[in-house]
Amino acid sequence: MHNDHLQKLEPALYVVATPIGNLRDITLRAMEVLSNADVVAAEDTRNTAHLLSHHAIRAKQLVAVHQHNERGAAEKMVAQIQGGASIAFVSDAGTPAVSDPGALLVQAVLAAGLRVIPIPGPSAAVAALSTSGLNDAHFLFYGFLPNKSAARRTALQTLQDHPYTLVFYEAPHRIVECVNDLCAVLGGERQIVLAREITKLFETIHSCRLSEAAAWLQSDSNQQRGEFVVLVSAAQAQTGIPNEAQRTLSVLLAELPLKQAVQLAVQITGIGRKELYQLALQLKGEEE
Ligand code: SAM
Repeated sequence: MHNDHLQKLEPALYVVATPIGNLRDITLRAMEVLSNADVVAAEDTRNTAHLLSHHAIRAKQLVAVHQHNERGAAEKMVAQIQGGASIAFVSDAGTPAVSDPGALLVQAVLAAGLRVIPIPGPSAAVAALSTSGLNDAHFLFYGFLPNKSAARRTALQTLQDHPYTLVFYEAPHRIVECVNDLCAVLGGERQIVLAREITKLFETIHSCRLSEAAAWLQSDSNQQRGEFVVLVSAAQAQTGIPNEAQRTLSVLLAELPLKQAVQLAVQITGIGRKELYQLALQLKGEEE
């Protein structure tokens, strides 16, 4: 980093997002804050030292703050910020406090009436979502499901009717089990997107029906390696109208005005006009 970026930072906790693989995915502002902060607090100092040296950034002071000492570290940081220090916090990858340490620090700093400043950047969930091709109007970020299958299925049952794209993080050694549970609880019809090794050499974004996902993963053990974001398309509203009739109506709606689409759908499917009209309104609403 060049000297012209040197500046005194306002005393605060800076929550800095870092790359999720490709080390070049770091913002100019993140680099400035990491260079100029009085302290860089990192989940894993070795990992952060690697990132800093890649960008020729020399941190003034690099300290470790992880899950196990976050509470104690928070007290110390509050005192340091009160004394005028600027502290940058980074997790191992992506955005801190998103399925990562950071939330306790932020809470403590806010509770002391001090400033917390976001330095936004990569997050695996958002990167996966933006390239998934799923276009539900809303998404629900769940993060990690429980490790054990029974608990995982129970957690999934609470999500099964939500009309939102579901976004999970999963470890490679559980990916097949997880996909099997997703299929068992959510049904095989929904679309799944497996976003693996985003921004890295073996980046793969694979989309298929839930019922096909386990076989696809098992057909090539390389597809079970690395880091995963798993996305599942939203639950369809329970209308009591068979899927095939719903599909017919959506196809007609894409081509025709609502009234005409409903009229034709009634003739094709034999389902009542009132029900199809309701569904058409709903489908149109979801599009907007
Ligand atoms: N705070 C991070 C973020 O903002 O994305 C997430 C940290 S969490 C401990 C790590 C999990 O994020 C991994 O197990 C994986 O599910 C997901 N992840 C992180 N990097 C990824 C990548 N490059 N490709 C796919 N998933 C990734």
